[in-house]
Amino acid sequence: MLKGECYKSIHGSHILHFHHVLDAYGHLSFRHPMNPSLFYMARSIAPALIATMNDIIEYRVSDGEPTNPNNSAQGYIERYIHSEIYCRFPDINAVVHSHAESVIPFTISGVPLKPCYHMAGFLNPDGVPVHDSANDVVAPNVPDLLVRNMYMGEALAKRFDDGNKVTLMRGHGYTVAAESIELAVFYAIYTQKNAAIQTAAVGLIAAAGGSMQNLRLLNDDEARERSASVATTAKRAWDLWVVEVADSTLYPKE
Ligand SMILES: [Zn+2]
Repeated sequence: MLKGECYKSIHGSHILHFHHVLDAYGHLSFRHPMNPSLFYMARSIAPALIATMNDIIEYRVSDGEPTNPNNSAQGYIERYIHSEIYCRFPDINAVVHSHAESVIPFTISGVPLKPCYHMAGFLNPDGVPVHDSANDVVAPNVPDLLVRNMYMGEALAKRFDDGNKVTLMRGHGYTVAAESIELAVFYAIYTQKNAAIQTAAVGLIAAAGGSMQNLRLLNDDEARERSASVATTAKRAWDLWVVEVADSTLYPKE
């Protein structure tokens, strides 16, 4: 079962790269299906290049440290994003952290990212929360916006307390928390698409001399209904995305 989840996560990383959610940076993790105290992430490597289980490191949820202290592979610095979300939310089994460019403007402009179309009803209709890691820096950590320790990870994890699935990170990117690898990938991809659509719509309105009041977003009822139906449709997307990356010569095959 663990092997299956490992290879599903590798597919997930390749899919996220294929859809420009991850570039050389960013990461996907998953919780052990049978032992909730453990989670897994790739070693510090571009996600598109993750190839086998040997690239995956086992971590403790409790402190975000490797279970094997003799493992010489370097892990991602920002693994505390993942460990603290797993620590706080027992029903969360997969996390994606991305620096996707279409999302960044919503982290620095004060313009809230909201669900614009039916594929993104999982986004908070009141606006996706924006977390500022600069508020969590404690000496001797440097103010570089990276989530470098458990304390900073916990502060970010609290942004998911109300069942929120996506949190933006000021001047950095966004993080997704979901019940499965497939859903985490789905939410990450459609958050990015929604951001691009919202930016395009705002540009059209501005070009037409209109007001932002003309931006017609999903209302609360529409967002709730669409969010509820995602779990039943996400597999269709996943099955396509797996074939897409299998068909590309870029991604390593087992
Ligand atoms: Zn990051």
